[in-house]
Amino acid sequence: MNGVLVVGASAAGLATAQALRARGYRGPVRLVGEEPHPPYDRPPLSKQVLSGAWGTERTVLRAPADLAALGIELLPGRRAVALDTGAREITLADGERLRYDDLVLATGLTPRRLPAFDGPAGVHTLRTLEDARRLRADLRTARRLAVIGAGVLGCEIAATARTLGLEVTLIDPAPLPMADRLGPPVARLLAGLHRDHGITLLTGTKAEAPVTDGGGRITGVLTSQGPVAADALVLAVGSVPATGWLHGSGLTLDDGVLCDARCRAAAHVWAVGDVARWWHEGQGRALRLENRSHATESALAVAGNILGADRPHRPVPYFWTDQHGVRIQVFGDPAAGDRLRVTEGDPATRTFAAVAETAGRPVGVVGWNSPHGVRGARALLTPP
Ligand SMILES: Cc1cc2nc3c(=O)[nH]c(=O)nc-3n(C[C@H](O)[C@H](O)[C@H](O)COP(=O)(O)OP(=O)(O)OC[C@H]3O[C@@H](n4cnc5c(N)ncnc54)[C@H](O)[C@@H]3O)c2cc1C
Repeated sequence: MNGVLVVGASAAGLATAQALRARGYRGPVRLVGEEPHPPYDRPPLSKQVLSGAWGTERTVLRAPADLAALGIELLPGRRAVALDTGAREITLADGERLRYDDLVLATGLTPRRLPAFDGPAGVHTLRTLEDARRLRADLRTARRLAVIGAGVLGCEIAATARTLGLEVTLIDPAPLPMADRLGPPVARLLAGLHRDHGITLLTGTKAEAPVTDGGGRITGVLTSQGPVAADALVLAVGSVPATGWLHGSGLTLDDGVLCDARCRAAAHVWAVGDVARWWHEGQGRALRLENRSHATESALAVAGNILGADRPHRPVPYFWTDQHGVRIQVFGDPAAGDRLRVTEGDPATRTFAAVAETAGRPVGVVGWNSPHGVRGARALLTPP
């Protein structure tokens, strides 16, 4: 018996391994991860870890001893480089081959880079613990930070850097931060929040090239609105699914590992978390979600299906973000709405929950410092 082999030892991979054990699976479970660490949580990296409120040890999701006690074998620092679905085996970078009865792909994402910004010291992306350590070290000495990309990650990094006293410029070609996730009315509030906290928000602005000193260190960025001074710069321009090693495997790779409604990519091959693009029966389209709760939800679904549950995965998408002391919670797709109806609180007092509707039908829910209100409004979303 080769058991279940999980590639990617982070939130989704770990949750799959744990769920298999919780449901009574007794075969071998192996968790192969490229990173040298035990599984850790990423959301604190742009918040508590970057601010210095938490040491990195607080991000650990399961200590190796706990994994061993569950009979989950962790293989850290091992990178998968090839998959042979016929032989049901993967090859690791060191040449070792591992066979499986079922394979779970949980390799997540890799930050997108902008080629023009490759090279200078002081240019960062943020995905891993090492990225967070490097960025934190730079923020300790930098006075001015430029963040390119006003999506969730860019907004969080900008907000955290502001709490450290840096002058922060947030640059994005779109007219509003996070409008594609929140819809314009709430995105306008978010723009106001960032400005109120002293962030220079350059929307409708393209970052074009880095400016460096003689030693090859970043000193600023040229934008379509003119130059911006910066001693450190973060590229937060999205991420791409980590599927390079699966080319030639026969799996369909199309902005992620393409799966059926049960998150199955091929016979005995499944995908979970950020890397999975699966057919959401409730929405009638293939979906890929990049958020923490989906890492767990998809893991539970796949563990069940490996054990024969045969159930489609139909979650209501959910994510949260913390910026300037505000917790924003989002269910469904508020950006798809053409009207926003406040169901609790008041945007003017900066505590509210609202339902986004299209043709009178709720399509998303946003809560702004309103965990109770958002839970109530969530019930209005049609169950998938
Ligand atoms: C800084 C940051 C802040 C975030 N904040 C929030 C938040 O506030 N709210 C929210 O909902 N979500 C947030 N997220 C998103 C959330 O963390 C992710 O959705 C979640 O981590 C996805 O888990 P995953 O296991 O699918 O992928 P990942 O966490 O990316 O893990 C994939 C793992 O696979 C490994 N791997 C990749 N390729 C290979 C290979 N070939 N062989 C072996 N191992 C491999 C990687 O090294 C990595 O360890 C945040 C993400 C980041 C980066």
